[in-house]
Amino acid sequence: MNFCPQCGARVELRVPPGDHLARHVCEACGTIHYQNPRLVVGCVPEHQGRILLCRRAIEPRRGFWTVPAGFFENGETLQQGAARESREEALAEVGIGSLLSIVHVLHARQVHVFFRATLLGPEFGAGPESLEVELIRPEEIPWPELAFPSTEFSLRRYLEDRAAGVESHHFASLDRRLRQ
Ligand SMILES: [Zn+2]
Repeated sequence: MNFCPQCGARVELRVPPGDHLARHVCEACGTIHYQNPRLVVGCVPEHQGRILLCRRAIEPRRGFWTVPAGFFENGETLQQGAARESREEALAEVGIGSLLSIVHVLHARQVHVFFRATLLGPEFGAGPESLEVELIRPEEIPWPELAFPSTEFSLRRYLEDRAAGVESHHFASLDRRLRQ
């Protein structure tokens, strides 16, 4: 951030009194602009034993597969956000079930939250952000062509839990900055 979204003056990066981290502080209007992790919410929709996957039409990772997920919006619950993303990306109405996973994506400054879900009807299709949407058998999931590590983590835990007949929730922390 270079300029204050409030008044347009140049901002300075410094630790405000009483704080412990550097913040973008506007010297003109005094506003402290806090930057916090963004929340991404999604679900793993199942229908008759198959999983609904979307092939991304947008960057990042265009052409790779993912489950319906996207940035959380103001004024909705996590479950409503997950259902909305399914509607937008896969033109599918889903019933949101239990919490599946929380993945801290530290290098991207994001937290990804995934729920289990079921299709409420047989209809689905490619929304504007998807090249194609398909119901895929677990043994046919294109693992090397998944868009994000959080997608893979959540899908693997989903299938393991399903095979074991349980619905637990799982945590992961990813930090690409620490990888070789
Ligand atoms: Zn300002």
